[in-house]
Amino acid sequence: MRKRKLAPKLTPGEAKERWADAHPPFSHDEYVHEANRCLYCYEAPCIVACPTQIDIPSFIKKIAFDDLKGSARTILEANPLGGSCARVCPTEVLCEGACVYNRWDRPPILIGRLQQVAMDHVFEEKYEPLPPEPKRPEKIAVVGAGPAGLSCAAVLARKGYGVTIYDAQEKAGGLNTYGVAMYKATPKYSLREVASIRKLGVRFRQGVRIGNRIKVSDLLSGNAAVFMGPGLGKETRLGIPGENLRGVMPALDFLEEIHVKPVDTVRAGNTVVIVGCGNTAIDAARAAKRLGATNVIVLYRRTENEMPAYQKEHDEAVAEGCEFRWLTNPVKIMGRGTVTGIRCVTMKLGAKDASGRRRPVPVKGSEHTIECDQVVYSIGQGVDTTFMAAIEGLKTDRKGLVRVNAESMETSVPRLFAGGDCINGGKEVVNAAQDGKVAANAINEMIKNAKGVPHDRSHS
Ligand SMILES: Cc1cc2nc3c(=O)[nH]c(=O)nc-3n(C[C@H](O)[C@H](O)[C@H](O)COP(=O)(O)OP(=O)(O)OC[C@H]3O[C@@H](n4cnc5c(N)ncnc54)[C@H](O)[C@@H]3O)c2cc1C
Ligand code: SF4
Repeated sequence: MRKRKLAPKLTPGEAKERWADAHPPFSHDEYVHEANRCLYCYEAPCIVACPTQIDIPSFIKKIAFDDLKGSARTILEANPLGGSCARVCPTEVLCEGACVYNRWDRPPILIGRLQQVAMDHVFEEKYEPLPPEPKRPEKIAVVGAGPAGLSCAAVLARKGYGVTIYDAQEKAGGLNTYGVAMYKATPKYSLREVASIRKLGVRFRQGVRIGNRIKVSDLLSGNAAVFMGPGLGKETRLGIPGENLRGVMPALDFLEEIHVKPVDTVRAGNTVVIVGCGNTAIDAARAAKRLGATNVIVLYRRTENEMPAYQKEHDEAVAEGCEFRWLTNPVKIMGRGTVTGIRCVTMKLGAKDASGRRRPVPVKGSEHTIECDQVVYSIGQGVDTTFMAAIEGLKTDRKGLVRVNAESMETSVPRLFAGGDCINGGKEVVNAAQDGKVAANAINEMIKNAKGVPHDRSHS
């Protein structure tokens, strides 16, 4: 029987180098030069491509004149999570992908890194660029301190409402603190953004899981409105024999460990097999490489053409030494107590399925084993259906995602709003930020119009 081997141990120096910031801040000369390349387009396609519709040419123009505070104000008016979005947004398929420079095959304006300049200035100087409005008596409860909940809370706090966020985790930030690749944004960076929202007067109750002692109905009776941004639940299990062996884990657990422990204390297996080819799977593959794994093999049952991951993320993983095996599907995890290998079959693509992609079908007699020391899987995340099912009158779709009115984010339960991954099934931080902002504005309108909304309620 093959013995499980761990990746070679890294020194703290090596670990630091491997996890270095993927986007080191621009120097003064670099940002002034980059900002001056912008053409300040009249009908700017970059704005249209941004889900929060930041006035990009306007914030860039302010940077060109060294008005970083004014620039941050423009960003935050549209996107309360402008800091994390500057670092984690897939800009190549959003604003930068739409920049007019692409039409002439010239490098687009580095919008994300310019946004980072303005937002770093706010966080380093610890000031509030947007003046808050006078205090109001109404209280709002927010479930979940991830990007959706934080965005909603920030907008409402700036409008003067008393906002309390309830979050199940020890620290706020949701996946920004516990999941997003650390070479894009560290937990420390995420928590700096949380601190800036706390400074607006938002109260955080961490370690409180709504649905246990406090129910959503309690929050509704104690507040003028409730916003829910609980994200998604656990990762879907593989459903094959051997899944409970030591060394087999969902990608979210694997990534969370790196976020809560010093990286030089986390040991990956020497050969790590990743199952799945979405962005989370690729994050896990790149993390395993950074932890020192000698071999990282990503298995996907379809081909590169069908993979859900962004091409850029895949290409960067290849450049970092991750291997991709297409048309390969695991059927059993091997080992006695601890994983030693993964049994796979080769697939071929058949007719199109309901998703419009060609269905993978097994090739007879193609079973083979890949020896490995760790298996990390990421084949999809479902909704926390127990939490949703306990909310009386809440309408969800077939997958358990919360149904909302797209213009207000209001659910089928009056005064209960929702946004982020729990309504879209897992998109990006910027989508969650936009949902939170839209819901906050709708809550404000609802209260101002006082359509039967009880005023002057206290915290539950
Ligand atoms: C590994 C990984 C990497 C990613 N990388 C990127 C990236 O690079 N760029 C990008 O734009 N997006 C990325 N995403 C997607 C992005 O992180 C999510 O779209 C975004 O975080 C969704 O925000 P949310 O607020 O809806 O949910 P979450 O971030 O999941 O936050 C939900 C919060 O609600 C809390 N909660 C849940 N249930 C309860 C309850 N019952 N009571 C109280 N609190 C509760 C949780 O503790 C959590 O803090 C990534 C996702 C993953 C999984
Ligand atoms: S499309 Fe490019 S050049 Fe035009 S305003 Fe946007 S960032 Fe500037």
